[in-house]
Amino acid sequence: MTDGPSPGSDDLAPATRLVALGREPASPGAQVGAPLVLTSTYHADGAVSYGRGGNPTWSALEAALGDLEGGDALVLSSGMAAVAAAFSLLPHGGTVVVPDAAYNGVMATVGDLEAAGAADVRRVDLTDTAAVVAALPGADLLWLESPTNPLLEVADLPALTAAAREHGVLSVVDNTFATPLLQRPLADGADVVVHSVTKYLAGHSDVLLGAVVTGRTDPGRALHDRLYRHRQLHGGIPGPMEAWLALRGMRTLHLRLERACANAAELAGRLAEHPAVHRVRYPGFGAIVAIEVAGGAEGAERVAAATRVWVHATSLGGVESLLERRRRQPNEPAKVPEDLLRLSVGVEDVEDLWRDLSSALSRSRPSADG
Ligand SMILES: *Cc1c(COP(=O)(O)O)cnc(C)c1O
Repeated sequence: MTDGPSPGSDDLAPATRLVALGREPASPGAQVGAPLVLTSTYHADGAVSYGRGGNPTWSALEAALGDLEGGDALVLSSGMAAVAAAFSLLPHGGTVVVPDAAYNGVMATVGDLEAAGAADVRRVDLTDTAAVVAALPGADLLWLESPTNPLLEVADLPALTAAAREHGVLSVVDNTFATPLLQRPLADGADVVVHSVTKYLAGHSDVLLGAVVTGRTDPGRALHDRLYRHRQLHGGIPGPMEAWLALRGMRTLHLRLERACANAAELAGRLAEHPAVHRVRYPGFGAIVAIEVAGGAEGAERVAAATRVWVHATSLGGVESLLERRRRQPNEPAKVPEDLLRLSVGVEDVEDLWRDLSSALSRSRPSADG
């Protein structure tokens, strides 16, 4: 269906491709905007017969995301639907190597599989490349997330995906935090890329959506067929409206990310000097910063409650700056400190963000003036 025309060609920069990807091929009178197609079924004898199998609006988004990641994308109803699709590649009773702290939905998923006797789980410190490699023999799946949510730990993706391949272990990389503009795991050697499209790709905190992306190789296409079948049979399909909004949001991904990353770098530097902050976690790229603050869990809650520009809410990757004490979330791994605030830095004026946050931080200690 929608393959995206010439914008998919590699001689154009991502910023140029983002603006046009997923568009119908040019012809006199053809629409420039991607179509929002609302139909549950199709006239017989076409490539797709029923709405659970495909939709032109999904195809436009898949063409765009696939191009950026250098693979073939499948959109699903949420990031967790994409996570579940990737875990469907793990054989029953198989062994999965996972980080000891990563997105809490993934941690809960492997915990449930383990409790049900459906998988053996090996938990590793993913910053310790040798330890991860040592856990690979006999495993079926290596789950990577880099940088991790919310500890911002960074994995050596080329080394780990290469080691996984040597051991015949499928590697999956959750690329939500970096986005394909900052990191392309398939080119680094990963078998499957997972996205919460909800976050940076859609970028406006108005939809939930997920995606899996596989390589344009024979093994990649075989994985794509399995993931397609999973989506078809489990039925975790997105609404066309959500796909349309996500593609519309992606048109400005490069602009949003550029500003958000610049804001994050500036704030990370200033936060390191703030007396109420005893640790700043910032990997040197991306737009998520985590800080550990004075006054423990209560101190962190007081800071989150005291901002005016920053929104106290979960989630990340939208145009607005959000902050949250992550251990509020019931499935958050114990490795995440109680006083850690995750900052999703948005595209606002950086001085407004700093003034608001630094004054809220002065409330972290109960004895302080506020
Ligand atoms: C939010 C998130 C998910 C889950 O995505 P949803 O769209 O909320 O289902 C998965 N991985 C990471 C890293 C996330 O931040």
